[in-house]
Amino acid sequence: MKFKATCKTCETANTVIACPNCSQQKIKDVTKETGFAGIQCSNCFHSFSSVKCGGCQSTIYLKDIGVIEKPPPPKPTPLETVLLVWLGFFVMLAFAFLFFKAFFSS
Ligand SMILES: [Zn+2]
Ligand SMILES: [Zn+2]
Repeated sequence: MKFKATCKTCETANTVIACPNCSQQKIKDVTKETGFAGIQCSNCFHSFSSVKCGGCQSTIYLKDIGVIEKPPPPKPTPLETVLLVWLGFFVMLAFAFLFFKAFFSS
């Protein structure tokens, strides 16, 4: 995930993509009932709610941090979609077959 932290002092828009503790790009938002509550690293579990401005080294607090990019939901590839359609077709065919078999044998 990507976050945007806008500096109050120098108005630099900082992009936060990596954990400040382990530098892994595995950070995600922490959401509570009140809304966006912080950022947590899913690699080392470091959670933080403020970042340093790359321009002037001021601390940017949660109020000025926002989510830029959510990870896209996994979409089925065209091949998987085709397979699913065929699977559905065969399941229907099997049901029809069982239905007719039961119907004619009685
Ligand atoms: Zn980390
Ligand atoms: Zn700044």
